Amino acid sequence: TVKEQGRSGFKFFHLDMEQRSLEQILLENELRKAIQQQQFTIEYQPKKDISTGELIGMEALVRWEHPELGRISPDKFIPIAEETGLIIPLGEWVLRQGCIQNKQWQDQGYPPLKLSVNLSVRQFTQPNLPEKIKEILKEIGLEAKWLELEVTEGIFMDLDHSVSTLQEIRNLGVHVSIDDFGTGYSSISYIKHLPIDTLKIDASFIRDIHINEESEAIVKLIIDIAQTLNLNVIAEGVESQEQLLILRENGCLQGQGFLFSKPLSKNDFEGYLKQATRNA
Ligand code: C2E
Ligand code: MG
Ligand code: MG
Ligand code: MG
Repeated sequence: TVKEQGRSGFKFFHLDMEQRSLEQILLENELRKAIQQQQFTIEYQPKKDISTGELIGMEALVRWEHPELGRISPDKFIPIAEETGLIIPLGEWVLRQGCIQNKQWQDQGYPPLKLSVNLSVRQFTQPNLPEKIKEILKEIGLEAKWLELEVTEGIFMDLDHSVSTLQEIRNLGVHVSIDDFGTGYSSISYIKHLPIDTLKIDASFIRDIHINEESEAIVKLIIDIAQTLNLNVIAEGVESQEQLLILRENGCLQGQGFLFSKPLSKNDFEGYLKQATRNA
């Protein structure tokens, strides 16, 4: 029976592997088509000043609506796009499209806002990234200060390369934020050398900040580090008044999350902009 268990165990494992790779292959094929067939859109999630409620910017989040499979989560397809390199054309599409949209809103007379665009590690390590960004901004006519790039701590695996690339990006006038901060590779000893503007506290610490003392302590520490190093700090995944209160008490000035607004379609974000402008 031991042998049988072992065999069935092996079979199970094998099947699981096969299924996963089939799904991978399916999504990979569909992703290739999706880029050509323009199945992607962008949603915009507001970022807010916690004390005044003022709208301070928005994050571009890519959406994939597959004609048969329906909406597929970025958590599912971004890693595949990363592995296959498809993230390069997809990421460039999001960057260009987001900047075009932001410029259009400015031209329509809305108060100028900073648009944040996520960059995955593979995008970040592509050669000539700073030149590419510069070209796109120039082509669109958007001032660099209205663009922010969100990168994760994963880029610091290659510290020398990431520091020089970040420096070039910031020399353009583009802002840089460390996304999901607190979950990755950064060590306190070298954060002070990094050419960055903002620490974005990972949602996992905000989720239970009101019931977990460790999470609260970590958030306090991140806010302290940010203040010491003269960096902005923003909390992501803020869902409740309770969480907001604790963030405010600890001196966190900016927030993003369902409490303020979900990510919005282009049209819904325009409605939001109109309302925010009226209230200002
Ligand atoms: P992220 O950059 O950390 O984005 C935050 C995620 O949290 C988004 O998920 C957003 O919809 C979600 N979120 C915002 N507020 C709340 C909240 O209050 N509660 C909860 N539970 N969730 C909230 P989304 O859009 O599914 O994106 C997931 C991840 O996929 C992103 O995490 C980012 O790493 C990646 N991603 C999304 N768009 C792009 C893109 O254009 N390029 C790249 N490279 N990655 C992207
Ligand atoms: Mg992000
Ligand atoms: Mg994040
Ligand atoms: Mg995240």
